[in-house]
Amino acid sequence: MADKTTTSFMRSLCMGHIEQEVLFPFPTLSADQKETLHEIAGALEDLLGPRAEDFRQWDADGEMPSEFIEELKAFGLFGLIIPEAHGGLGLGNMAYSRTLQEVGRYDASVAVTIGAHSSIGMRGLLLLGTEDQKNRYMPRLASGELIAAFCLTEAGAGSDAAAIKTTAVRNDDGWLLNGSKLWITNGGFAGFFTVFARTDPEEGHGKMTAFIVTRDMAGVSIGPHEDKMGLRASSTTTVLFDNVQVPADNVLGDVGKGFKVAMQILNSGRTGLGGGSVGGMKRLIELATRQANERKTFGQPISSYGLIKEKVGRMVVDCYTSEAVVTMVGGLIDGGFEEYAVEAAISKVYATECLSRTADEALQIAGGNGYMREYPYERVVRDSRINRIFEGTNEILRLFIALTAMNDVGSQLQELASSMKGVLNDPIKGFGVLSDYARKHAGLATGRGEAGKLANLDESIRPQAAMFEKQTRNLAQATDRILRKHGKNIIGKQFATKRLADIMIDLFVMACTLSRVQSSIEAAGVEKASREIEILQVFARDVRVRIKRNLRRIDNNDDELLKALAVDAFEAERFRWDTI
Ligand SMILES: Cc1cc2nc3c(=O)[nH]c(=O)nc-3n(C[C@H](O)[C@H](O)[C@H](O)COP(=O)(O)OP(=O)(O)OC[C@H]3O[C@@H](n4cnc5c(N)ncnc54)[C@H](O)[C@@H]3O)c2cc1C
Repeated sequence: MADKTTTSFMRSLCMGHIEQEVLFPFPTLSADQKETLHEIAGALEDLLGPRAEDFRQWDADGEMPSEFIEELKAFGLFGLIIPEAHGGLGLGNMAYSRTLQEVGRYDASVAVTIGAHSSIGMRGLLLLGTEDQKNRYMPRLASGELIAAFCLTEAGAGSDAAAIKTTAVRNDDGWLLNGSKLWITNGGFAGFFTVFARTDPEEGHGKMTAFIVTRDMAGVSIGPHEDKMGLRASSTTTVLFDNVQVPADNVLGDVGKGFKVAMQILNSGRTGLGGGSVGGMKRLIELATRQANERKTFGQPISSYGLIKEKVGRMVVDCYTSEAVVTMVGGLIDGGFEEYAVEAAISKVYATECLSRTADEALQIAGGNGYMREYPYERVVRDSRINRIFEGTNEILRLFIALTAMNDVGSQLQELASSMKGVLNDPIKGFGVLSDYARKHAGLATGRGEAGKLANLDESIRPQAAMFEKQTRNLAQATDRILRKHGKNIIGKQFATKRLADIMIDLFVMACTLSRVQSSIEAAGVEKASREIEILQVFARDVRVRIKRNLRRIDNNDDELLKALAVDAFEAERFRWDTI
């Protein structure tokens, strides 16, 4: 049985091990949780279903009326993940993500308002708060009396979060907080802020600490509502701290460990954004299929044309595979796995990019109507664009995904190097490590190692499972190869890192999809699961083609040419050529 404190499916996969028991069987909700979710979905349909016109208007106005936020509070939407003992619904990660999926079907601004509260605003309190802190704030957060916000970003510190300049200086009464935070979701009405500040300001990139700050503390103020491209009805503001006296017992987690706290919050909250993205895709598939059936050109509904079928078929594949990966990550978290950061990052990158594609293609299917504000498509395109930027940009997450894996493989290579020394000092001990390493790699190279196989899958999906096994061996060898080629310089080799990340993303999504389809086959039989098997077939073929291309380009690529073109453009700060 996998050790839940140390096992990460993807980190093992990069070393050629398929930890099958981590992802199989596909996670499911208990009958009780399913019933609760059905009730929530039904009630949300009553609450949000009739509001389509309101959502359109609030997007145009750039604001959500406060009466509607009161309705969200009354509904209990701010207490989703708060334990029942503190007045919340106590949903686990999977059920929470599924709820955001339901909200995401109706309106992304509503989903992000609720999501920023639960996924990031108050999640630090849930994960790391003391009993006293929980008793003080949880009930008011559950009722929505306090809405939560997450305050990390500053004008000079977005992706480079460690560069924040907000400071907290210790004094007799606790900490004195000074600084300003940028683009804070829910800033306009939040009463509870998880704030990150430097607590040893003298040093350049100072150590960070997380604090609980409330709106009633003197010196807290907010800036104006931002005028945004999308999510226009959600609240985004600056939040300013001017000599705010924060009590000592409002430190969240350990002093000096704020960066880790921020990452823990973001990792754990990723299924919220993933769930919202899946909900958005499901809604778009409803809209696009209805539109394609109704719209006729050349005497035929456009749904009869191959080019439209291709788009809708791909939407279905994107949605199914995204739901598989987002559900899986929720299941890992609920199942008590502690090392899920890479998998969670993959789910965020994958689901947000699938939603972007789906939104773009749904708009295309709607043609000119898709471009008109009267229809929902252009709003979904605008709303979904931010998902690839916030809660970790997809570029930064790709670097994180691949560098984490390479760090593991690198440590193993270092072990090998030190065991070589061991051969000189202690031949027997050194030989043990060496032969272990050699065996593993021989297994990878020949594909004979049991650790590199998926067992007990239905015959109908064996070809896709075999492809997964083969590409796992390729992944492990590619990781090894990239690392040997670049060594420590890998940090600066972003083209290579991205390639590895893309292979990892494809393989994790593939593994989650295999698990989902296998569960459907076990539950309903091959015939009833035939459509799902077809989804797997399409996805697997795409994955194989993409991975092959990525592998080929490790050694044979245009990286240096592209870099040179970019450097030239940076120098000129313009396009150099013209035809007149
Ligand atoms: C609507 C909205 C809501 C938000 N809500 C919140 C919130 O509630 N709380 C909060 O704290 N923040 C929030 N943010 C901020 C958001 O998290 C940041 O915008 C995001 O982290 C990116 O930071 P940045 O905008 O400074 O971009 P930058 O960090 O300047 O990045 C610019 C570009 O460079 C790329 N890049 C940066 N560094 C590297 C690198 N090393 N290698 C390769 N590429 C790199 C990035 O991927 C990006 O494409 C919100 C932002 C928006 C727009």
